[in-house]
Amino acid sequence: MYRTHTCGELNMKFTGNDVILCGWVQKSRDLGGMTFVDLRDRYGITQLVFNMETNSLLCEKARKLGREFVIQAKGKVKERSNKNLKIITGEIEIDVEELNILNRSEVPPFTIEEETDGGEELRMKYRYLDLRRTTVKNNIILRHRVAQEVRKHMDSIGFVEVETPVLIKSTPEGARDFVVPSRMQPGTFYALPQSPQTLKQLLMVAGFDKYFQIVKCFRDEDLRADRQPEFSQIDCEMSFVERDDILNTFEGLAKYLFKQVKGIEFSEPFMRIPYQEAMEFYGSDKPDLRFGMRFTEISGIAKGHDFVVFDSSEYVGAICAEGCYEYTRKQLDELTEFVKKPQIGAKGLIYVRYNPDGTLKSSVDKFYSPEELLKWAVAMNAKPGDLLLVLAGDKKKTLTALSELRLEMGSRLGLRKRDLFKPLWVVDFPLLEWDEESKRFYAMHHPFTSPIPEDLDLLEKDPGKVRANAYDLVINGVEIGGGSIRIHDATIQKMMFKVLGFSDEEADDQFGFLLNAFKFGAPPHGGIAFGFDRWVAMFGGQDSIRDFIAFPKNNSGRDVMLDTPSQISVQQLNELRLLIKPDTRG
Ligand code: ASP
Repeated sequence: MYRTHTCGELNMKFTGNDVILCGWVQKSRDLGGMTFVDLRDRYGITQLVFNMETNSLLCEKARKLGREFVIQAKGKVKERSNKNLKIITGEIEIDVEELNILNRSEVPPFTIEEETDGGEELRMKYRYLDLRRTTVKNNIILRHRVAQEVRKHMDSIGFVEVETPVLIKSTPEGARDFVVPSRMQPGTFYALPQSPQTLKQLLMVAGFDKYFQIVKCFRDEDLRADRQPEFSQIDCEMSFVERDDILNTFEGLAKYLFKQVKGIEFSEPFMRIPYQEAMEFYGSDKPDLRFGMRFTEISGIAKGHDFVVFDSSEYVGAICAEGCYEYTRKQLDELTEFVKKPQIGAKGLIYVRYNPDGTLKSSVDKFYSPEELLKWAVAMNAKPGDLLLVLAGDKKKTLTALSELRLEMGSRLGLRKRDLFKPLWVVDFPLLEWDEESKRFYAMHHPFTSPIPEDLDLLEKDPGKVRANAYDLVINGVEIGGGSIRIHDATIQKMMFKVLGFSDEEADDQFGFLLNAFKFGAPPHGGIAFGFDRWVAMFGGQDSIRDFIAFPKNNSGRDVMLDTPSQISVQQLNELRLLIKPDTRG
């Protein structure tokens, strides 16, 4: 028997017991005639003690143990004189009688401690060592817990988990596909699913009624901290449902997970905000509702005072930063620099201090009397002591810039607390997005999303105006999930493909399987998919999903541990009948 207990198990109840433990040497210390070794496994750390006086040979052996050696220790549990109440096993230690080295370790390239000296790249290269660190390990265990809770809940409400293939045909969901060449049919390719969208719809045609799957998805996109080329979704689909059935069902899942995983109960229904309203008041389709600071449009009262910047702007909008009238010149300059960054793109920032004594002081005093400025303050429900921050310009761009400014102010004022969760549904997205460059419409969600029934007539007449029967679950400014009621009628689906610029032949070629299926009794259906990695990262209180994935890729899509993507052999290329073209991109 390798071990009788784990390193996170023993306490005062076990004193006097003979035990065997196995694990890794976290660290060892020699103090006088004693050697102490911290032995670590997945479950915790237990202190081993070796006594020079009572067993010098064994103690010598212990002194030679290096960090991360794998050992087995047999001995007796005894009460510690120097207790460490921070850890579960901190009241006891093991008086070791036999020590076996099960494997040696080279000195690890970084310390396996919470505060490690290893940089990101090194930790990724030796990810298996990084995973020995408590936080990273706990993140992966958290992920496991959330997955189990998802399965438990979905099963309890009648959903069936069905696996869908990984080698499929390309589905246009807005990103680039990863492709896999076929050896048996040279010159042809599989695509890895961006999501199992069409397959889950086919499961509805097949009558499965309620499907879910925790599934890998693949998108060949440029990466950011919260994106990975392969990621996991909780993918779901239901038949004979309308939008509210879906929202209620998955609000149930969200509430269940919050309760089980975080111990947080939401008694109220989640807020539902139409897309248009989210854009108008927060400049974003994923507003962070942990704080207010809604936008107020003041175009009407701000224009017409000979201030060219406003007069030439389509939109003048402002936010009110409560209690910030004392912001210094330096702070205001910083905010101005912030909004002028190219990725935010505002031309400048105008401020109004609403002093506690009721006076108003602004950066545009030349154009606006205190009475005029007071009108802005009143429109914004501002109080003495507040600071008004105003941006102007093209409406769409200004809303986006104002959104960034709002988030920045929220962060500066400590209003975006990690332990506060504000979920909401954003509904009624536009169905289509016009792309100026290619002069065509793109599906905002995906081409299988149904228009809301009242807008169906507009699909051919005025496609840009059609609202989609689509929804997103947003938590703290992060899109956690999104989905839609689908088109289940082959004629409407064909119409949609036409609006998206597919000829009948192209539609048949790419989606014949789906259009065909719709000929055989497709039920009304809809669904949703949640970003599983993101949800887990949020539960873990982090922005980056990387530390919640056992073996993630870096920002350039590389797995530095496996050292891939990498070349394949000439023989493999030949088998696939592939030729690599020289890189002529300069
Ligand atoms: N397949 C969609 C996505 O991955 C989600 C859905 O509509 O269910 O975004």
